[in-house]
Amino acid sequence: ADRLLLLCRPGFESDCGLEIQALAESIGVYGYIKTKSRQGFVEFILYDVSRLKDIVDLIKVDRLIFSRDAMMTGPLIENLNTLDRVSDMLAVLSPSFRCSKIVDWAVDSNEGKSLSKLTRKLLKPLELGLESAGHWQAENHDSLCMLFTATDQCYLGSLPRNACPKWPNSIAHLRFPAAAPSRSTLKLEEAILFFLDAKEQQRAFGLGKTAVDLGACPGGWTYQLVRRELQVTAIDNGPMDEQLMATGQVDHLKVDGFHYQPKYPVNWLVCDMIEKPLRIAELMADWVAQGWAQSAIFNLKLPMKKRYQEVVLCQQVIAERLGAKPYELKIKQLYHDREEVTAYLHAL
Ligand code: SAM
Repeated sequence: ADRLLLLCRPGFESDCGLEIQALAESIGVYGYIKTKSRQGFVEFILYDVSRLKDIVDLIKVDRLIFSRDAMMTGPLIENLNTLDRVSDMLAVLSPSFRCSKIVDWAVDSNEGKSLSKLTRKLLKPLELGLESAGHWQAENHDSLCMLFTATDQCYLGSLPRNACPKWPNSIAHLRFPAAAPSRSTLKLEEAILFFLDAKEQQRAFGLGKTAVDLGACPGGWTYQLVRRELQVTAIDNGPMDEQLMATGQVDHLKVDGFHYQPKYPVNWLVCDMIEKPLRIAELMADWVAQGWAQSAIFNLKLPMKKRYQEVVLCQQVIAERLGAKPYELKIKQLYHDREEVTAYLHAL
């Protein structure tokens, strides 16, 4: 293996590449990016292959903003025998290779989806092939990753289990709740499931907890908070969903989200206002710095070209505004995010 292959949302290749290069440079690892516009993945090819392990040791896919998955791999394997792909795939593995799991990747596109029908059928024969060739080892902590880019072409690689994303390819399989007033409800649901583990979720929500939702209408995000038994102040000039208002858990105020101040501190601040990312980052940091909210989940809309750089600026602004106050900040382009990323900011 001489490279890292990173899966991303199609259209975000350059951001994904810049982010991995910046991370690698922070430990003195250098390389170049190979990608094509909208292909949905990026190759980071190292100048010094011996450093590949160092960068993999550093990686946790869940902490990368624009990567959905990662593998250590070599160049694309071409001209696979389409009557017996498994034999050709096994032939490229080094004799010492061991794994205990296979992750089949798919590019997030129509072509990727149709190829994944093929790769799903390869899972069992490949596992049997790995077993009989001595590559399969139950106690091993590596996964074998495969990404097909055509019916006779694939990348084959590996990743240690502790670097793997929470969900394979970071795909959150969520069902849209029939009673939710907008599709964007899935963004907050995914954010809660992604950023908080089961224990943290239990602690963070439930009766007696409060939230402010800035830019709340028609109420998709508020719906998630109400479901978790919170009392919500919804800030927006628009109309809120009537069913949600009938729960008695929502107070709707038609005021400006940038000027509203809560009478009492709240547990949660959520914000989905469409505004410049830096303005949102400042606002969120100020709420947490002043102790108005303990935790915040917010969207940073990124309609501009230099999206990675913009997110870095937001991180800097938040760091400045919070000063000496200890905090945790996680940022991720979630599966349900489009031209945007989602952030979780928490006062420690
Ligand atoms: N999260 C909502 C949901 O799940 O239904 C959707 C929010 S929508 C993307 C953005 C909302 O922000 C709009 O309803 C808009 O009226 C509101 N908004 C934009 N600027 C605002 C401001 N300065 N103060 C309050 N609300 C604002």
